[in-house]
Amino acid sequence: MSFDVASIRKDFPILGTRMRGKPLCYLDSAASAQKPQVVIDAISDFYSRHYANIHRGVYQLSADATRRYEEVRTRVARFIGAPDPREIVFVRNATEAINLVARSFGEAEIGKGDEIVLTAMEHHANIVPWQMLAERRGARLRVAEIHDDGTLDVSSLEGLLGPRTRLLAFAHVSNALGTLNPVREITAMARARGITTLVDGAQGVPHAKVDVSALGCDFYAFSGHKLFGPSGAGVLYGRLALLEAMPPFLGGGDMIERVSFKGTTYAPAPQRFEAGTPDIASVIGLGAAIDYLEGIGMERIQVYEQSLLAYATDQLAKVPGLRLVGTAREKAAVLSFVLEGVHPHDIGTVLDGEGIAIRAGHHCAQPLMERLGLPATARAPLAFYNTTDEIDRLVAALDKTRALFA
Ligand code: PLP
Repeated sequence: MSFDVASIRKDFPILGTRMRGKPLCYLDSAASAQKPQVVIDAISDFYSRHYANIHRGVYQLSADATRRYEEVRTRVARFIGAPDPREIVFVRNATEAINLVARSFGEAEIGKGDEIVLTAMEHHANIVPWQMLAERRGARLRVAEIHDDGTLDVSSLEGLLGPRTRLLAFAHVSNALGTLNPVREITAMARARGITTLVDGAQGVPHAKVDVSALGCDFYAFSGHKLFGPSGAGVLYGRLALLEAMPPFLGGGDMIERVSFKGTTYAPAPQRFEAGTPDIASVIGLGAAIDYLEGIGMERIQVYEQSLLAYATDQLAKVPGLRLVGTAREKAAVLSFVLEGVHPHDIGTVLDGEGIAIRAGHHCAQPLMERLGLPATARAPLAFYNTTDEIDRLVAALDKTRALFA
């Protein structure tokens, strides 16, 4: 069955709008993805007809809101292949998911002289929480190298896994390079040594079918807003045995079993990690996004995006002076590039004038930029609502940029 991108685009109202007098060409979905009407409607419907706080009310409206919220937990578990919905913790975003693990698992399990292994391609969200933990605990960060094409140097990583390694945290897909890391191979290496693994899946889930059981990771973190859902709801998957052994992250209402001034006992996972009123409507919206994606099929999305990536890679190669940054054989549809003699911010500005939204900068991966010897790149990730026509517009606008700065 062919992929009807024209009909898919109609599901996203913003894609029919104009920017600077031209049809919007949105090439920044890695920063945040656009939302289909069904997600917008699910949020509006929830606020219009079903809204109440959850887990508290004895009345029907609250019980119904609770059921809807908890159903999304079950849907998320199924969507990412988690065996048990109790392994799904709702958080704000991938950043909070990683901080939760660093605070909760980290404080309990990582001590003086222990080591946390990361890779050189991590987003700041998967660096800074570990750095903060290492400072608090007297632990040490070790960083696996990458090759010049943006692939992970797996043997460098393996060489870092030692008797003091307590945690290995790495990206499923690099946001700045597109590199798809060999997650199963890496988690197997860690498991054989009794090392806990966290996969930063912020750029993994939007591009392919994820099965956390098959990936073999202990934790998997992602943001709903990059998965075509609303901002404000993200997910931490954690193996149940690990979550059950972890102390709470934030304290407050909804995460307790019993509170007295002598002391407090905590609710079981995942409630233990969901203190206070969550972003209920965003969780409902995330459920609608997952239903929408499953309706299309993640496998079909992946095939379409890969064909788009191949087309874009060929077309960009024809732009004189353009160099792609991140050319791993296994990669998701992210195009990062530099253009000789033009600062990436200037590329972004000229493209904006053409109605094309891309990001220019360090993409929250400053250590990676340093490793590559670049201050910044221009980045155009592709989502399943992008088209070959939009890639042609991108190429034409880059030619115009070159002409302006030549
Ligand atoms: N990890 C990766 C690889 C990302 O690309 C991002 C966001 O760009 C994050 C983590 C952080 O996501 P959020 O800002 O939604 O927490």
